[in-house]
Amino acid sequence: GKPRVVVVGGGAGGATAARYIAKDSKGAIDVTLIEPTRTYYTCFFSNLYLGGFKDMDDLGHTYGGLAANGVNVVHDWAVDVDRDARTVSLAGGGSVGYDKLILSPGIDFIDGAVPGWDLSTQNAMPHAYKAGSQTELLKAQLKAMPQGGVFGMVAPPNPYRCPPGPYERVSMVAHYLKANNPTAKILIADPKPKFSKQGLFEEGWQKHYGGMIERIGPDFGGDNVSVNAADMTLDIDGEVTEVAVCNVIPAMKAGRIADMAGVTDGNWAPVNAIDMSSKADPDVHVLGDASQQGDMPKSGFSANSQAKVCANAVRGALTGSRVFPAKFSNTCWSLIDTNDGIKVGATYEATDEKIAKIDGFVSQTGESAEVRQATYEESEGWYAGITADMFG
Ligand code: FAD
Repeated sequence: GKPRVVVVGGGAGGATAARYIAKDSKGAIDVTLIEPTRTYYTCFFSNLYLGGFKDMDDLGHTYGGLAANGVNVVHDWAVDVDRDARTVSLAGGGSVGYDKLILSPGIDFIDGAVPGWDLSTQNAMPHAYKAGSQTELLKAQLKAMPQGGVFGMVAPPNPYRCPPGPYERVSMVAHYLKANNPTAKILIADPKPKFSKQGLFEEGWQKHYGGMIERIGPDFGGDNVSVNAADMTLDIDGEVTEVAVCNVIPAMKAGRIADMAGVTDGNWAPVNAIDMSSKADPDVHVLGDASQQGDMPKSGFSANSQAKVCANAVRGALTGSRVFPAKFSNTCWSLIDTNDGIKVGATYEATDEKIAKIDGFVSQTGESAEVRQATYEESEGWYAGITADMFG
């Protein structure tokens, strides 16, 4: 029969890989995508929803376009991988066989990373780091904050999904509070000495939200944090603050199915840069946030870029089609305030060792309003482009 590819996870990496393999092989390869949710809500632009710049409906995407492109879409959880038998078992009971398996399950949280927080307290203290109901919950809590209340955030340690994400979120929360609750404060406990686009964010916070945002870095105990969800308190190095909202973003690791497939080092899945194949198994590929690939940040743009390299290599291996040299790119845009967009990006190549950065660019402090608006508009174009590239 035809060669079979199974893709686990229909997000930025998985949906792109499934679509490209099905489309470019023109029916020569059977492609099955396993994804439990019927509507994928993008984490990208979910901070803009918190800020009031997007509606939830703008973030939701369904899988009908992929099905129409020839992808067999199975709405179920993959619950195990047998790499000897080359099968993936599903929560619903069945199992599917593969010649090549592509895992792009995103992230899960490390148990016990923030004392006092676990999945049973995520309603009191949402992470909103997998988009959907958690994002809506955080927005509802933001809206319900009493005047002058404190919005707490526990930022994650490296490496994690979307390096500028927590700080774009702070900007968007501040944008909302400035208009609706101007005496409110934002308190960030951060275990990292520095963060992505820090100078640009701090300049913007000063300019737009002066006095509203306080960040406590590791020097002042920002790495010694616990929470109490029953009392709604945040304890930073022994200093206890009552918070109206607490956005806890714990330390992360690869989505659990990567671990069950036996392709992680305990946290992330090491891969070969040339085709995103697992260092543990040449017939298993790992894309996006779950992979440990080298220099690329964990972003939707990166996952989509890696997926195209992987799709090309998998198709070549299964049908003998031409394989092009692996090239990757990424840009992470962030919105600080209305029309005040910033970006950081780079291009990359595959070396024997890793995905290696070639060169990059970053917005500058003090840029004109015109440049910042153009940067924001570029991000709108990117969002339309990547979602079309993922879902058809
Ligand atoms: P995901 O897109 O998360 O997809 C994983 C999919 O796998 C999910 O749909 C999940 O349901 C499924 N899955 C998991 N386990 C299983 C299983 N066992 N069986 C079947 N399916 C499974 N990136 C950008 O490029 N630009 C941005 O502006 C940006 N902003 C962000 C803002 C925030 C607040 C956050 C949290 C992230 C942001 N990102 C951004 C990062 C981006 O969302 C991720 O890096 C990207 O989604 C990673 O793609 P992925 O394929 O690895 O995982």
